[in-house]
Amino acid sequence: MSNTDWIARDLAHLWHPCTQMKDHEWLPLIPIRRGQGVWLEDFSGRRYLDAISSWWVNLFGHCNPRINAALKEQLDTLEHILLAGFSHEPAVLLAERLTALAPKGLDRCFYGDNGSSAIEIAIKMSYHYWRNRGYSAKRRFVTLSNSYHGETLGALAVGDVPLYKDIYQPLLMETITVPSPDCFYRAAGESCRAYTERRFALMEETLAREAETVCAVLIEPLVQCAGGMRMYDPIYLDLLRKACDRYQIHLIADEIAVGFGRTGTLFACEQAHIRPDFLCLSKGLTGGYLPLSAVLTTEDIYQAFYDEYHTQRAFLHSHSYTGHPLGCRAALASLDIFEQDQVIVANRDLAATMHEAAAPLADHPHVAEVRQQGMILAIEMVKDKANRTPYPLEERRGLVVYQHALQRGVLLRPLGNVIYFMPPYVITEEEIHFLATVAGEGIDLASASH
Ligand SMILES: *Cc1c(COP(=O)(O)O)cnc(C)c1O
Repeated sequence: MSNTDWIARDLAHLWHPCTQMKDHEWLPLIPIRRGQGVWLEDFSGRRYLDAISSWWVNLFGHCNPRINAALKEQLDTLEHILLAGFSHEPAVLLAERLTALAPKGLDRCFYGDNGSSAIEIAIKMSYHYWRNRGYSAKRRFVTLSNSYHGETLGALAVGDVPLYKDIYQPLLMETITVPSPDCFYRAAGESCRAYTERRFALMEETLAREAETVCAVLIEPLVQCAGGMRMYDPIYLDLLRKACDRYQIHLIADEIAVGFGRTGTLFACEQAHIRPDFLCLSKGLTGGYLPLSAVLTTEDIYQAFYDEYHTQRAFLHSHSYTGHPLGCRAALASLDIFEQDQVIVANRDLAATMHEAAAPLADHPHVAEVRQQGMILAIEMVKDKANRTPYPLEERRGLVVYQHALQRGVLLRPLGNVIYFMPPYVITEEEIHFLATVAGEGIDLASASH
């Protein structure tokens, strides 16, 4: 079967995520036959360097031999068992490992099966905690502008990307949106830290005013990924933690995208030395192999639900594939690699190479900024560099970069006008330089068109 055959059969029945299907009348779908390390191969034998870790999930390359071996063994041992009334080895081992690695005090692990479900779990737990503790006025959530927490209705409600959210607004619970500390908007000559600190005043004001009715603040630590890889200083997390304590509000850290080394530390929260009340993990959790999520929380929160059955305080939330044995086993194998290969330390060299390779792009007349946080690097294209006027989104300039990169054998998937690298950690320095070259060519093309 050729690419063309698979495309025809696909388009006859599949409805793809995050896609205007009509685009595929002129934008070819790419059927992938196999993956090996950072490389993907289609049915014509064309290869693509995966610069975005296949939707930010993959950590150690496709078909990683160590994760594959662990999964094959698990597959022959136990494929699934419900987690209510039953337990299994990988779920226990993974809960032990995660609670040991997470910021101190997060000793309880509740599993879900994808990122959005982790957010739903954290939201429900926070609300329910306050109910169980007698704070029945608390029923609202605070979120940052331009934040993203997933696509299910609860997760969508606490996010703020208009493209995904606007149409569904009438179906969503009301949330309180506070302007983001996104350093892209700092004043000329102002440091990111100073700007972040200044922007916190808006959060402080909101929490002081609304504390009585607020359950929790949700935040993507350090990088708003889906919002265009926008970044801010760790000082925000520190200030937010202190304010949440002052006003009796939970802090929900959504590390679904930034967890597992993306920002340079295993968890982004480490950079502010804070412990959230809920830590949501997914995406890289299984090394990018299987759908799984985990919500880590404190003993205090756990204890608010722990009571006689008839008091109806239990958290009765569940998903059929919660704590899936294969997912947990993949996660354990991935954590082994972190340990055995000293990945966090080794990544510092890769991050430095990413910086070095992309830095020259900052001088491009249509690049406003090259920014980086650990293993995430973003290049923001603009129409007018002097006053940072963005290209109108409907011009779809990122798509020009996407198509050019594919021709050169690179999978880049810009978010609007933002081109970013979030590669698997097995990428080589040479491959990083190749990525930067291709991105630069793409930006030349995109800014010259129209
Ligand atoms: C991807 C993502 C989610 C949602 O996870 P899914 O598994 O896609 O439901 C939530 N929060 C953040 C920050 C994400 O990047």
